[in-house]
Amino acid sequence: MKTFAIVGAGFSGAVIANRIASAMECRILVFDRREHLAGNCHTSRDPATGIMEHHYGPHIFHTSSRKTWDYIRQFSEFRPFVNRVKAVTPRGFFTLPINLTTINQFFGKTFHPEEAREFIAEKGEKQFKDAKNFEEQALFLVGRELYEIFFKGYTIKQWGVHPTELPATILKRLPIRFNCDDNYYNSTFQAIPSDGYTAIVERLMNIEHIEIKQNTNFENSFVGEFDHVFFSGAIDEFYGNVHGRLCSRSVYFEKQRGTGDWQGNPVINHTSQEVPYTRIAEHKHFTPWEEHEKTIVFKEFSKFTAVGDIPSYPMQGKEDKRVLAKYINMAKQEEKVSFLGRLATYRYLDMDAVINEALDFSDEWLSAKAANEKLPIFPNGGRDLPI
Ligand code: UDP
Repeated sequence: MKTFAIVGAGFSGAVIANRIASAMECRILVFDRREHLAGNCHTSRDPATGIMEHHYGPHIFHTSSRKTWDYIRQFSEFRPFVNRVKAVTPRGFFTLPINLTTINQFFGKTFHPEEAREFIAEKGEKQFKDAKNFEEQALFLVGRELYEIFFKGYTIKQWGVHPTELPATILKRLPIRFNCDDNYYNSTFQAIPSDGYTAIVERLMNIEHIEIKQNTNFENSFVGEFDHVFFSGAIDEFYGNVHGRLCSRSVYFEKQRGTGDWQGNPVINHTSQEVPYTRIAEHKHFTPWEEHEKTIVFKEFSKFTAVGDIPSYPMQGKEDKRVLAKYINMAKQEEKVSFLGRLATYRYLDMDAVINEALDFSDEWLSAKAANEKLPIFPNGGRDLPI
């Protein structure tokens, strides 16, 4: 029987394990150096209060892909949830993403949608039409006042560099709306699993012949023992950092307990650079269908990823891209190792994108395997890699 290794028990690893084990006779060993499953999506109930905690920050499942939505719901009940984020700023308390309510309250106006659109277009700095970085993109879209109050301080805290050093694509994650829709996402489907994300990952891998090795580091020297390795850890680490480390940001939290309703909302961003944390999440509000008298809040901070830290956000600076290109060249020589997921492909991916890619990749890999063709190394032929 063929034996495969999967490195990383996050969504990439779990979906691949599920698909391969369901499609062919094989034995699969899943390695994860952490003591829990689900990677950065890990959730568990706090023993003292029963509140479901998102240990690596708020995870709200949202997707516009019917395929991904139908697939993931086979493994859990999902309850409707709409992420409505608020912002504490030096100019007061506002609703995000920037929408008609935010614009009217911020500028003391009573605009209709088209008036607001024209007003903001006036404020936008036209010379940045082809924005080359985050700051230019923000100045073009919303002008200086909104940029400085909502984006500049938050982004410096979150990324540790000036917004001119960051790609414009980061801002493109956030919608700007000229109606009163304060849903943080544009996705068609949005929900939270009733019993958390870790339960989903457990169910995905609950198949005979899948063995999970937690607290176990995968060493490069193990590759020879397997017929194929699906690697979802950091690609620079896989190659022993021979060309240097890829820069990332890590998040860490200060946990605080209380009673009742602490902040009145699941997530509140603190946009001022003077406040040390980026946002505060009150976790019981992610399960509004549950009742909890006690509460837990997590203040979220950001730092450069150092050796031993868990990377969360890839920096993707110019030097990083040069370094990444070298690792990609090494990876392209591999015959029985594939790289997928957020860390192995050094991209800022939401959960649905990770699941979707892992589904497509497993189909591609299985058909190449069945046809005895060259096995794919990266998802989507490596076309989406950030180099
Ligand atoms: N951002 C900001 N102010 C906010 C929220 C977001 O400047 O109040 C910027 C920031 O640079 C952040 C990016 O927009 O990294 C994307 O935000 P998102 O909420 O998608 O970040 P995530 O939830 O993935 O951390």
